[in-house]
Amino acid sequence: MDKGVALLLGFKTELKLNKAQRTALMKHCGVARHAWNWGLNLTKQILDHNARHPDSKIKFPTAIDLHKWLVALVKSENEWYYECSKSTPQQALMALRESWKRCFNKTAGVPKFKKKGKRDFFTLEGSLKIKGSNKIQVPVIGVLKTYERLPQVLTKSCTISRQADRWFISFRFEVEAAVSANSDVVGVDLGVKTLATLSTGVVVDGAKSYKKYEAKLSRMQWLNRHKVVGSANWKKAQLKIARLHRKIANIRKDTLHKLTTLVAKNHGTVVIEDLNVSGMLANHKLAKTIADMGFYEFRRQLTYKCELYSSKLVVVDRWFPSSKTCSNCGTKKETLTLKQRVFECDHCGFVIDRDLNAAINLSLYASDS
Ligand SMILES: [Zn+2]
Repeated sequence: MDKGVALLLGFKTELKLNKAQRTALMKHCGVARHAWNWGLNLTKQILDHNARHPDSKIKFPTAIDLHKWLVALVKSENEWYYECSKSTPQQALMALRESWKRCFNKTAGVPKFKKKGKRDFFTLEGSLKIKGSNKIQVPVIGVLKTYERLPQVLTKSCTISRQADRWFISFRFEVEAAVSANSDVVGVDLGVKTLATLSTGVVVDGAKSYKKYEAKLSRMQWLNRHKVVGSANWKKAQLKIARLHRKIANIRKDTLHKLTTLVAKNHGTVVIEDLNVSGMLANHKLAKTIADMGFYEFRRQLTYKCELYSSKLVVVDRWFPSSKTCSNCGTKKETLTLKQRVFECDHCGFVIDRDLNAAINLSLYASDS
C-alpha cells in the first residue's frame, strides 16, 4: 500500500516578466532558432552531397558532432551566443537531430527552417531551482516569476515558449507519488450558488472573499466614467483599477488551488462532471459564475494534482442527470429549474440541497462503475 510509484509529470505556466527579462528570452529564442537553422542547412547539404556522391558519403552527424562544429565555427563569429546559456543551442541541435530521426523513420516529414516569431521557444538545461512558491531560478537569465504557485520539485531542464505577448515555462519532473491509502470517493458539484459542493457535505464558497473587491471595482469604474482619457486623474484611477483586477484574480486563483488540493489530496477517487460550458453560457444567470470561477482552470489543476496525489479522476458525461436524480432512491425527475435550490423527491419524499444531491450522485456514479 505504501509503496511509492515514480511518475513523470509535466507542468506549464505563464511567466511574469520585466522588460530586461523579455529581452533575454528573445535573445535565447534567437540563438535557438539560429542554431537550428544553421544545423538544418548543414545537414541538408550533407544529405545532398551523399545523394550525389554515393561512393564518397559523409557520415551523418550526431547531435554531439553538430554542437562541436557549432562551437568551432559559429559561436566565435556570432558574439551574441555568449550572452545566452550554452545549453540553448545544444538543446536546439538535439531537437534537430531527433527531428531528422523521425524523418528517417518516416514518422514525420523533413525538418523545416524556423522563422522569427513563429513558435518561438528554447530549452535551458543545468541548475534550476524552485524558490518559494512562485519563483524559479534558471541558468544565465536568473530568477523568473510566475503568476501561479509552482510545484516544489526538482527539475533539470525547462522550456520557455512565447504565444503572442505571453511567455510560458514548462518543465517535467519525477515524483515519488505515494499510493493513496484513501480509497473513498468524492463527488464535486461545481455550483451556481457556491464554488463547489462535495458529496461529503463540505461546501466551498469561493465568492465571499472577493465580493467586496468586486463591488469596489464596479464603483470605481462608474466614478471614472467621465474622466478625460489620458489625464492625470484618469491615469491614477486606471492604475487603481488594474490593481483591483489583479487582486481579484489572485484571490480566485488561490481559492481554486485550495479547492483542488483539498479534493485531490484527501480522496482516492474524485468525480466531476464534464461541463457543457457553451450550453451553460447561453443561460445568462450562469454565465458570470462560470467566467469568474474558470472551470477549465479547475479541471486543469485537478488533473495534475490527482496525478500528484495518486488519486483517480473520473469525468462524468455531461448528459448524466446528476441534478435531476434522487440520490436516495434513484428516481429521476422530469424537470428541475435552476431556481429550485432544494431537491424534493416525488417518489420517496427525500429532501436535500440541490448541489449536495448532485455531488452525491456523482460519487455514486463512480462507486457503481
Ligand atoms: Zn427519492
